[in-house]
Amino acid sequence: METTRTEITGESHVGIGVGRTHHEVVIIGGGTGGITVASQLLRAREGMDIAVIEPSTEHYYQPLWTLVGGGIYPKERSRRSEISVMPDGVEWIRERATHVDPDRQIVETGSGRKVGYDFLVVAPGLTIDWGGVKGLKETVGRNGVCSIYDYEQAEVVSQMLHEFEGGEAYFTSPATPIKCGGAPQKIMWLADDLWRRRKVRDRTEITFATAGTVIFGVPGFKEALEELVEEREIHTLFEHHLVEIRPEQREAVFAPLAPDGETEVRSYDLLHVTPPMKAPDFVSGSTLAHAEGESKGWMNVDIHTLQHPDYPNVFGVGDVAALPTAKTGAAVRKQAPVVAGNLLRVADGGTLGDDASRYDGYSSCPIVTGYGRLILAEFGYDNEPMPTFPFDQTKERRSMYILKKYGLPPLYWNLMLKGRA
Ligand code: FAD
Repeated sequence: METTRTEITGESHVGIGVGRTHHEVVIIGGGTGGITVASQLLRAREGMDIAVIEPSTEHYYQPLWTLVGGGIYPKERSRRSEISVMPDGVEWIRERATHVDPDRQIVETGSGRKVGYDFLVVAPGLTIDWGGVKGLKETVGRNGVCSIYDYEQAEVVSQMLHEFEGGEAYFTSPATPIKCGGAPQKIMWLADDLWRRRKVRDRTEITFATAGTVIFGVPGFKEALEELVEEREIHTLFEHHLVEIRPEQREAVFAPLAPDGETEVRSYDLLHVTPPMKAPDFVSGSTLAHAEGESKGWMNVDIHTLQHPDYPNVFGVGDVAALPTAKTGAAVRKQAPVVAGNLLRVADGGTLGDDASRYDGYSSCPIVTGYGRLILAEFGYDNEPMPTFPFDQTKERRSMYILKKYGLPPLYWNLMLKGRA
């Protein structure tokens, strides 16, 4: 994987794996969080010595996968080459981080290379646990089982929704934290709308099967979505999570979460699965992670400064971090300046006192409720609503759909990843 050349693409100047053993800043992950933080650091401090460890040659704007699943965009619209988003001046180590030793300030990569750092930003996202549901790995993409939680699979979802001829349709949400908590139902609302247009809805029963106790946790949006559930005749199965798929029998097994609950075995014709998710192994197996409690395995950071409580030179951003808010790209947009600002403060010899940058838990979930309709849920810690617009955001609106479809992708590629938003 490693090369010793310097890649020059147009204006961009990115050194690939030129083999240095120490950097002022090492960022693990060149996804939404890693690239945004790198760009912001370089904007604040030109020439800063930053290495990004990222194995993938592709970068994905994952929020589009819901629209890909609905057949609104081809999947390719969500993908760009990693080199095209890597900020000028960083060294890209095209490898996977496999171990972090925060006491010795070293990251080890898949090839055994050891990279030292003064500051570490941990941004590897989360791991989709396809093996966490029995039968899922072998079945996804076939026999009516599909998922938008993967670049290739998202397109299969669209195919299955468009070819569906009616029957029992299930949309699941697991018992683990997930990225974009609204996505499991967004694809359901699109399916409902599509099947009404295709005139198969009257011979279809839709069930939203979730480990949660409610359809959405934020007051105001919860009630609005409950009304929609009623109006569009959606069945619900709360406090149950999918544990097994029996493809031959076309059966889905849901285990109860409540102690007095019962296992439900349901027949399906279409099963859209949101798989369980977990922190990457190299994080959960390290001293960077919470050792116990509800957040066990996820990266331990101060929920406001995003600094590790035991290692002041280590920061976390994005899905990997144990933060009591929704894991979204929108949250990353607010976290990145906090990480960059606080890292520079510490680099300049400061501590994170009252003048530290603070993250308020902001996250946003654009809940697509149909083709051309969307409820924009924005909230912070404690599910506190944090609306951007001066109108009732709990209502379905075309303008918010237009924002998601046409406004947010260029904002992401042209501003956020460049450290300008
Ligand atoms: P990612 O962007 O996933 O990046 C992680 C990077 O780390 C990847 O490039 C990966 O290759 C790399 N990596 C992994 N392991 C290692 C390792 N060991 N070493 C080095 N690098 C590693 N967000 C919204 O704001 N709005 C939405 O509407 C929305 N909808 C979504 C719909 C779907 C279907 C999905 C899947 C996501 C959605 N999101 C949405 C969530 C959003 O995409 C994520 O929250 C965001 O990408 C998190 O950024 P991140 O940097 O933490 O992780």
